[in-house]
This record gives sequence, structure tokens and C-alpha cells, in this order.
Amino acid sequence: MDLKGKIAVITGSNSGIGLGVAEELARVGADLVINSFTDREEDHALARELADRHGVVVRYIAADMSKPEACRGLIEKAGACDILVNNAGIQYVAGIEEFPTDKWNAILAINLSSAFHTTAIALPMMRAKGWGRVINIASAHGLTASPYKSAYVAAKHGIVGLSKVTALECAGQGITCNAICPGYVLTPLVEAQIPDQMKKHDMDRETVIREVMLERQPSRQFATVEQIGGTAVYLCSDAAAQVTGTTISVDGGWTAL
Ligand code: NAD
Repeated sequence: MDLKGKIAVITGSNSGIGLGVAEELARVGADLVINSFTDREEDHALARELADRHGVVVRYIAADMSKPEACRGLIEKAGACDILVNNAGIQYVAGIEEFPTDKWNAILAINLSSAFHTTAIALPMMRAKGWGRVINIASAHGLTASPYKSAYVAAKHGIVGLSKVTALECAGQGITCNAICPGYVLTPLVEAQIPDQMKKHDMDRETVIREVMLERQPSRQFATVEQIGGTAVYLCSDAAAQVTGTTISVDGGWTAL
């Protein structure tokens, strides 16, 4: 597997799954554009570290994925995009009646609409080269639901639909689009949910992870960022050239239940 000469743009990649995907794509030679909404020295330092570790070119471009123009600007500033990984995402948990409108709007904008905007700018670049990969990081919540996650579940089901439409519009052009659907992966996004769950269930950390958070994940093990990154590498391979418009679950059996 060799992605030398390919440029991968990964949204929301200074942490968690996005960083794991960046790491695995760089390991097989892809040059990278990594991103978040912050513009700190440590973000640019992270890009230098990745470049040194893997001998590839890595740029950090700050862009807020809640803003349509910034999403489009990210791909324009990248200048080229052979592999687009739409990964930026946030979570908020509340019942529908209490769900704040600003949180609903932010989740829909970052977890769903950003992928529409980046894809719209990236596709002509891919078509010009006759090769491209769009990889949307959805979730087991793109295929199933949980209470209190209305915006997240709606956005993730939405991105599964967007992946299918993108695949159809690119069919036969050397460009594929798929959604990876992870179950629980221990990242800062999930780490932030643990204290609330401990309080709510009056359980210690280990028990709440095993009995509550991983209750629907039959393996009772978190998926890892390396496994999600490896799945992205597979989708970039020739073996996956006819894999398009579908979902790949990396969820320890969650959606088999
Ligand atoms: P994380 O919080 O570690 O990472 C989220 C990334 O998105 C960070 O780099 C953050 O800076 C970035 N981000 C947030 N808001 C942004 C904005 N407005 N503009 C640009 N970047 C922004 O979380 P994670 O768990 O790595 O999540 C990454 C993706 O994976 C999300 O789409 C999430 O829904 C999905 N996912 C996560 C899990 C899990 O268990 N961790 C499971 C299924 C799906």
C-alpha cells in the first residue's frame, strides 16, 4: 500500500479519531492537511511532528467546520485533495424537549453540513485526476439510535445518506465515497461523557465503562483510533476500488445485535 503523492485532508484532526486516521494515512506515505478550529502553536507543532515521524509533508490549516465558508476555504487553501476525510464532530446529550437550539444547530453544522461543503469543493479536484476517496466518519449512531442524542443521531444518519449520494454522483469516475461507522472509541469526545455517566449511574469508572457505555458493544472493548485509521487506509486501496456508497462498521458487534 503506497499513498505517496496523494494529499489527504482530514477535518478535526488535532485529536482522537481524526489524528489516528492522519497517522495511519501518513504511515503509508500520504501528505496531509490536518485541521481544527484553533490556531495554536501546538497545532502547528503537531503537523511538524507527524511530518518528521513519517517523512511526509504535513500542513495544519485552521478552519471552523461550523461555518460553510470556512469548510469550503479549507479545501481551497489545501489546493489539492485526493483523499477527503470528513471527521470533525461534537456531541451533546439531552432529551428533545430540553435540547438547546444552538446545540442542535452546531451539531448539524459540524457533524453533517461541513461534509457537504468540503465535498463540494473537493470533487472537482478529484474528477480532474480521475481518482479520489471521500471517507465520512459516521457512527454506529448513523445506523441505530439512542435516546437523548437526537441531533447526533440525526446528523450521523444524514451523513450516511450523503455518502450514498456522493458515491452515486461519482460512480465510474475512479472516486469512491463511504462512511465508517465506529462504535465506542476511547477519545476525548467519549472521555468527556464518563464523569456524567458515573454520576448518573453512581458507578466507578471501570464499571460504568463496562456496564453502561459498552453495554451495546458486545465485545465490551473500545475500538481504537488505529483500527479506524486502518479502515480508512483500506478504503484508499485498490482492493476497495469497487467499495462505494456503503458503510463499514467498526463497532465490536453493536449493529449485529
Ligand atoms: P474528539 O473530540 O477527540 O475529536 C473531534 C475533533 O473535531 C477534534 O480534532 C476537534 O478539534 C474537532 N472539531 C470540533 N469542532 C470543530 C470545528 N467547529 N471545526 C473544526 N474542527 C472541530 O472526538 P472523536 O471521538 O475523535 O470524534 C471524531 C469523529 O468520530 C466525530 O465525528 C465523532 O462523531 C465520530 N465518532 C466517534 C466515536 C467515539 O466513540 N469516539 C464513535 C463514533 C463516531
